[in-house]
Amino acid sequence: MAYDKELKTAVEAVIKASLVCRKVQADIRAAGTVQKDDRSPVTEADFASQIIINRELLHTFPNDRIIGEEDASKLRTLPELKERVLARVRAVLTEISEKSAMEVLDKGKSAGGASGRYWAVDPIDGTKGFLRGEQYAIAVGLIENGKVVLGILGCPNLPYKSLAAAVPAASKGGTFKGGKGIIAYAVLGEGAFVRNYTDIASSPLQVSDIKNPEDAWFVESVESAHSSQHWTKEISDFLGIKKPPIRIDSQAKYAAVARGDVPLYIRIPQKKGYIENIWDHAAGAIIVEEAGGKVTDTLGKSLDFSRGRKLTANRGIVASNGTIHSAVIKAVAKLKMLESGLIVAD
Ligand code: AMP
Ligand code: MG
Repeated sequence: MAYDKELKTAVEAVIKASLVCRKVQADIRAAGTVQKDDRSPVTEADFASQIIINRELLHTFPNDRIIGEEDASKLRTLPELKERVLARVRAVLTEISEKSAMEVLDKGKSAGGASGRYWAVDPIDGTKGFLRGEQYAIAVGLIENGKVVLGILGCPNLPYKSLAAAVPAASKGGTFKGGKGIIAYAVLGEGAFVRNYTDIASSPLQVSDIKNPEDAWFVESVESAHSSQHWTKEISDFLGIKKPPIRIDSQAKYAAVARGDVPLYIRIPQKKGYIENIWDHAAGAIIVEEAGGKVTDTLGKSLDFSRGRKLTANRGIVASNGTIHSAVIKAVAKLKMLESGLIVAD
């Protein structure tokens, strides 16, 4: 398989980061509700996960660049938080010095762009879900000359079985809560695969074969601030979709589409003009495409990862099994979402 070394390294990194995230999520559960602020365990886990992933990637590929959500500037001004982050990191990387931890964290500041090779890392995607004790993902994508060539999604709470099989209530819609964890990954041109955390054996991912949009159902964000649930309902009604959406935090939504649990993920900007981050989509998008699906923005444009840290050429996301894709894009156009100003075109 192409990118063998990259895949092995990134999967190992995701497994190590997941150990820390699982422990912090358990601590949060034990302690009761915690807000996301500078002192919270979520922040601690976010930084620790990013340090672990950067360290593992750079240890094997010292010349690679990284685009990560976090850098060390905040930690330098908050020594107490820094100590807690280091303690979390050292639970996995026992030998790492403070200097080297801060240095690798700062390597996440790359600008990206159309040339060269860089990793897009989301140390904890879906922090709101993480806080609620529900779904989150650790996402690592490798981009070469503006194209995603490798993607890994660690979903520590997603069940190995399909969402529908695992949650009888899923067919009734609602928020999906927990499972044992999967790692989904894909290499450009070589397919998408899923494995669990403890066994290296993998099986291929394949999108759903639903052909009629009326028979479809979809995943969307739990957080209405991240994706307009009003507009996804309009689209779903327009398409004649009967089943209510399943709401899951993080790029676990892409994993659900890649595995064929659902044929569709829709993400509609809630804030006018919101631009997506590349680390929120690089890994998920290649996994869905390599599982036989299609990923574009809401206007039907391919996602353009060559523009830097953000998807500035795109508005919202539609990830599907491919077959129903054009019907969804047509629905967006028919509903005049562009004219409403909700989706701002270039
Ligand atoms: P999800 O779990 O799918 O709702 O998405 C989580 C991601 O949403 C986070 O990683 C953020 O980068 C991103 N995000 C934050 N604010 C917004 C927003 N206003 N609109 C869309 N996405 C957002
Ligand atoms: Mg994210």
